[in-house]
Amino acid sequence: MDYEAIIGLEVHAQLQTRTKCFCSCSTEFGAPPNSNTCPVCLGLPGALPVLNREVVRLATRAALALGCRINRVSQFARKNYFYPDLPKGYQISQYDKPLSEDGRVMIPVDGSSKAIGIIRVHIEEDAGKSLHDGFSDSSEKSYIDLNRSGVPLIEIVSAPDLRSAAEAHAYLTELKAILEATAVCNCDMEKGNLRCDANVSVRPQGSKEFGTRTELKNLNSFRFVQKAIDFEFHRQIEILESGGRIVQETRLWNSDEGKSYSMRSKEEAHDYRYFPEPDLLPLVIDEDYRQKILHTMPELPEAKKARFMKDYGLSMADAAWLASSKSASAFYEETAKLTPHFKPLLNWIKGELTAALNKANQEIETCRVTAPHIADLVNLIEDGTISGKIGKIVFEEMFAGGKTAAAIIDEKKLVQINDAASIEAIARQVAAASPENVAKYKSGKTGNLAWFVGQVMKATHGRARPQVVNEVMKKVLEE
Ligand code: ADP
Ligand code: MG
Ligand code: ZN
Repeated sequence: MDYEAIIGLEVHAQLQTRTKCFCSCSTEFGAPPNSNTCPVCLGLPGALPVLNREVVRLATRAALALGCRINRVSQFARKNYFYPDLPKGYQISQYDKPLSEDGRVMIPVDGSSKAIGIIRVHIEEDAGKSLHDGFSDSSEKSYIDLNRSGVPLIEIVSAPDLRSAAEAHAYLTELKAILEATAVCNCDMEKGNLRCDANVSVRPQGSKEFGTRTELKNLNSFRFVQKAIDFEFHRQIEILESGGRIVQETRLWNSDEGKSYSMRSKEEAHDYRYFPEPDLLPLVIDEDYRQKILHTMPELPEAKKARFMKDYGLSMADAAWLASSKSASAFYEETAKLTPHFKPLLNWIKGELTAALNKANQEIETCRVTAPHIADLVNLIEDGTISGKIGKIVFEEMFAGGKTAAAIIDEKKLVQINDAASIEAIARQVAAASPENVAKYKSGKTGNLAWFVGQVMKATHGRARPQVVNEVMKKVLEE
C-alpha cells in the first residue's frame, strides 16, 4: 500500500525585543547565568507582569505578514505544568482567545505555489534553561539558568497541510524569510531563536481521514526537521504494515543516532489546567493600530520574488533563493545598479560569494567584498577582459584582501589574452615541442586537439581566451 505523510508544524520564534515579555530584564543572549532576572521572571510571590508594548507590535506584525486575522480582543492564559526551569509553575501563553488566526504561507512545490494554512499565531513567554553536567560519573549535577525565563515568543501553528519532509523544509524556509524581512525574529537557530516541533501522521494514499499523530521535539535545524519527519514517516508505516497501532505520543529526536525515542504519552490541553491570566488585562488591538502596523510593513518575500523575476529577468528558482535572504537580496539590488549583467551577477552571489561566506563563517554585510567589487568583476568578465576561470582567482583574492578586481588583475597580470597573433606564437611553440602528437593529429586522431589547447592554457596560466586558442591551435595543426 502507498502512504502519504500529513504534517503540521508548531514553530516558536523569539521576538527581537530588548527586554522581556512582562518585565524590563534584558533579553541579551550569553549573559552570565541568572544575571538577567528580577522578581517577575523569577516567579517570586507578589510580583506582577506588565506587558511589553514592543512584543505586541512585533507579534501583530508577524501575524499580519502571515495573512492572519487579528482578534480585536485576545486573552493571556496560564498554562500550568511543573518543570524545574519554570519557576512560577505556569507559563503565560494564550489559549482560547489567541492574538490572531487563519493565515497562510505560500510555498513553492514542483514549480507552482501551494498555500499552507496558519491556524493561529499567539504570544507566550519562554521558560528557563536546564543544563546537565557530569552524568557519566557520581558528580552529576543539573543547573538552572533563568535568563531565558520570560523572553517573548510567538508560536506559529500550521494547519496539517504539509505532505512531505521537503514541503516542511520549504515552509520553514519561507517562514524564516518572512520573520527576517519583517525584523520580527533574527531566526538564529543555533541560539534557539527559532524552534520547531513537528506533528506527523500517515494515511493510505487516497484516504480522507487523518491517522493518529505523534509530535517530534528537539528539532534544532531545518535539516533535522526533514530527517526526523522522514524517520517518523517510515516508522509509522512499518507499524501499520505489521498490524500495529500508532500511539499518540511526544517523541524526542536524537540527531547523533538519526532516530527518535518516545518521551511521554501526549498531554491533552486539559492536563495544563488553562485559565485566564488574572494579572493581565485582555489585549485589545483596535483597527487604527492594525492599520498602522500594516502601513509600516516592508516588502514581503513573495512580492520580492515576483519583482526580481520581472525587473531582473531571474528564473523563479533564482528569484526565490534571493528573496528568501534579506541580506543577499539587499546586496544584489545594490550591485545590480552597477552592472547590467543580472544573471551572471546572481550566479556570482549565489555561488562563489555564498560558498566563501559559509566557509569563512562571515556575513555579507561585514565581509570585505562590496557591491562595486562584485559589479566590477562581473563587468570585466562579461566584456572579455578576464575569463570566468581567472575571475574565480580574482574573487578569492578580493574576498581575502578586499582589493578591487582591477587592482588584482593589474598586479597579477591576469588580463585575458585575446589577440590571435600572440596566441599563435605560443601554439607554434607547443606544436614544435611535441612532434609525435602533431603526427598523431595529422594521422586523423584529431581528438587530441583538447590536449594541445590545454598546453596553451597552461603556458598562458589560463589567461588565453579559450575560443581563440581552439581556432588558432586547429589552424596551426592543420597547416
Ligand atoms: P495540540 O494543541 O494538542 O498540539 P493542535 O490541534 O493545536 O493540537 O495541533 C497541533 C499541530 O498538529 C498543528 O500544527 C496541526 O496542524 C497538527 N496536526 C493536527 N492533527 C494532525 C494529524 N492527524 N497529523 C499531523 N499533524 C496534525
Ligand atoms: Mg501542540
Ligand atoms: Zn525580569
